Amino acid sequence: MGFGKKNKDMKAMRCAVCSRELKRHKYKPSPDWNIEGLLCSDCHFEKTRDFILSTERDKKKESELKEIQDCTCHMCNNIIDSDAEKKKPDWKWGMDAGIILCPECYNKRESDFNRKLNYCAICGGKIGFFRYNPKQKWRIDGQLCRQCWDKENLKGKVRG
Ligand SMILES: [Zn+2]
Ligand SMILES: [Zn+2]
Ligand SMILES: [Zn+2]
Repeated sequence: MGFGKKNKDMKAMRCAVCSRELKRHKYKPSPDWNIEGLLCSDCHFEKTRDFILSTERDKKKESELKEIQDCTCHMCNNIIDSDAEKKKPDWKWGMDAGIILCPECYNKRESDFNRKLNYCAICGGKIGFFRYNPKQKWRIDGQLCRQCWDKENLKGKVRG
């Protein structure tokens, strides 16, 4: 779209990088390089090398980043030095797989979770065997006791 064929042919006569006239040897740039036109052998060689180097650099950066992630607490961003202190969150907590937590955040998260599991999210009362999941539209995080659930439900009905 937009590029006439003629225009493209004109461009193909010179190297897209150094503008040297292209004779017998023309090289197509890799689509990853964002270069339009053709290249002479020197530029093609250099670009290939540059690209490989920069890809390697990116890969290295990525793995370094991964390494940092692997020893950073997901909640407080503290670096955790010792492997023994790296805690994996329980899958029940609904956190991303692969993240780690420091012991403090792990404990905090665990007690948060247990509190949510055992205490009503509205009145804070301990819920026994019968627990009620709030309706999604109530936007309540946690579970409810019978009374609070009924109250919320009633409110919803009044609101319509
Ligand atoms: Zn060139
Ligand atoms: Zn932490
Ligand atoms: Zn309650």
